[in-house]
Order: sequence, then C-alpha cells, then structure tokens
Amino acid sequence: MSKRCKYSMVFSTVYNFPGFKIVGLSVMTMLVGMVVIQLGRSKHKVRCPCCNRVVKRFEGSYGRLVRHLDFSGFECYLYFEEYKLHCKCGYRGYEDVGFVRDYSNCTRAYEAYVGRLCDHMSVKEAASFVGLDWKTVKNIDKESIRSALKGLSEVHPVRIGVDEIAYQKGHKYLTVVRDVDHGYVLWVGLDRKKETLNAFFQELGPEKCQLIKVAVMDMWDPFIASVKEYTRADIVFDKFHVAKKVNEALDSIRRHEFRNAGKDEQKEFKKKRFLILLRNENVPPDRRETLNSLLEKNQTLYSAYVLKEQLLSILDEKCYDVAIRRLETWKANVQESGIQEYDKVVKTINNYLYGIHNYFKHGVTNAASEGFNNKIGLIKRRAYGFRDIEYFMLKIIKICGL
Ligand SMILES: [Zn+2]
Repeated sequence: MSKRCKYSMVFSTVYNFPGFKIVGLSVMTMLVGMVVIQLGRSKHKVRCPCCNRVVKRFEGSYGRLVRHLDFSGFECYLYFEEYKLHCKCGYRGYEDVGFVRDYSNCTRAYEAYVGRLCDHMSVKEAASFVGLDWKTVKNIDKESIRSALKGLSEVHPVRIGVDEIAYQKGHKYLTVVRDVDHGYVLWVGLDRKKETLNAFFQELGPEKCQLIKVAVMDMWDPFIASVKEYTRADIVFDKFHVAKKVNEALDSIRRHEFRNAGKDEQKEFKKKRFLILLRNENVPPDRRETLNSLLEKNQTLYSAYVLKEQLLSILDEKCYDVAIRRLETWKANVQESGIQEYDKVVKTINNYLYGIHNYFKHGVTNAASEGFNNKIGLIKRRAYGFRDIEYFMLKIIKICGL
C-alpha cells in the first residue's frame, strides 16, 4: 500500500463491519493491553432479520462489547450500539449486525479463529491460549462447526461404507457413514440401531438413496435391514470382516490347544499369538522357524493355520468365478478337518453368503484409511467425546468430513 494512504482508510479496509464505521479508538495498558474500537452507524436503515423490511420503530438500543481478533498483540474489542426492533411482521428482538451472532461475546471472525485453534489442539489448550474458559471455547467451536455444516444436500454417494465407532470404553457406539470412493465421512449418528442408519437415509432423501449402488458393512443385522429398506444397493461384507471371523476362530483354537497341551508344549505357545494370527507372507524371516516348530507339534493348530491362510488367500482372489469355487472347496475342507470352531465360521459365511459374493463382485472394502483412523484416535485422545457426545460427533464431521 502506498505511503499516501490515510490511516483511516487502512482501518476501514482492515476493520470492515458492514453498516458501521469506526468512530473512535481507545487503548488501555493497565493489566493487559486492550484496544477498544468504537463503531458508529454508516447506514441508518435497519432491517428486520425476519422479513428484511426496513424498520423504523425501535424499542431501544443497547451497548455491546465483543471480543475481536488481536490488534498487534493487544486484546481487541468492538463497542457498538445494537437496536431492539419491533417490526410490522411481528418480530420483536435485536437487529442482526452480521459480524456477531446473537448473544455471543465474540465476533464471528474471532469465533472462526478459535475454531481453527481447536482443529489443532485440545479445547483446554486453546482456552489457555486465548484466555477464555474451556466451556466458552468448546461452545464457540461447536457453534462454528454447526453453522458451517452443509448436511447432505451437496453429496451424491454411490458407494457407502457403514461402520461403528466405540466410545466410553466400548459401552456406547456411533454409526459412521463414509463415502467409500472419496474417503470422507458423510454422516455420524448416535447408537448403532436400524433406526440410527434409517435417519441417515431419511436425511439423504429417497432419490439419492436409490442412486447408492454399494453399501459395505459389517455383518450387523440392524444395518443390513436398514439398507434393504431404503436402498437397492448391493450389500458387501468385505474381506476384512470375513478375515476377522476366521482370525477370531483361530485364536480360540489356539487358546483351547494351549490349555490342553503338556507343560513343555505350553512353553512353545507363549508369546506366539501375534505370530499365529499374522498373515504367513508377513511373518519375519527370523521368526519362521519358531512358528513352524510350534505348528509341527500340534496337528489341530497346524490344520487350523493352513485353513486360515487358505481363506485369506481366497479373499484376495480377483476373479469372481474362481473365488466362489475356491470358497466352496474351502468349506468342504473345513468339514473334512472336523474343527468345530471353523464350522461356526462356515455357518456365518453361509448366512451372509450374498454379501461375500458381492464382495467378490465389487472388490470394494470398507478399510478406512490409516489417516482416518489416526484422526479418530486423535479426536478421542483429546477427550472430546467422553463428556459431550454431540461435540465428538461434530468434530468427526469437521475433521473427517468433506
Ligand atoms: Zn419483520
């Protein structure tokens, strides 16, 4: 900016409050440095926030002092008079000055700044940084997220992933719907009931529901029922959900074999859980011998291990027909092995076979990106979710959303 520019012009550009102009500045240097910018009216027309009519009847005016962004290291406040209106439309209340929300002690710009701080630090840290109490900071952040929420009006999901997030030490759940193609969170709901997911589809609207082609999810009947009721999407149970079932069964076999083993053999079992559950191709070379030695000594564990590896390999099969054929062979192998824990896995696979076939058809998984899981972990660690679940949900949308 050129030197000739007048100070007043610089101020009116930097401190632009529509409908108002700067009429005075005062500085206090007592405890903390404070600047108060006094605003006067630049327009005399005041409009009703309800019907936008120019209002001439005022019931009074009230002085407001609100926090604004720091002024060169000084705490900055705005002081202005706000009118209380009585409009022909029936509205009775304060005018809307635009740069401050009703009943707020800060300008919208200041709230946005506090909101940005809360993206990078905990509420407590942000509160101590700006010198406000944490409840105020939390409410500012909540309000700034809420006011920026766009809902589902601008999204057109084609493939969705439905998942749950445990909170309060796994006693309570949130339902999280993600756009699988773009990786962002579309929606978060309280609980994991059919009604929870119904609420998402209702908000999305019937037309967009019909455009959803694929829904990837866990074998969780309430979600399945909801997807069937509202969409024509193919339900997919992805490989990670199936792999989880077979790993749980293998782990249970491992525990059972350990309990029934002799003392010497039990020693071999110690600290091998991770090694047994690990995908064989990922076993480190220096641990292979240890693993093989254990498997050689226990026939049941060996068979169970081989069956696990077979199933995981089938889940990587790219060709639909081959995958389905191999899955049928695997089921026959399980029957032959006589391992009861795996009979349960086969039963589950048979009950949900359509969704596993759909997985082979679409090849889509609900594996949230590592970035997503890290973000959720971070939000949880900052303890947003434990006292104020609404805030936790808003933070998920803000940080993992579009
Ligand atoms: Zn009005």
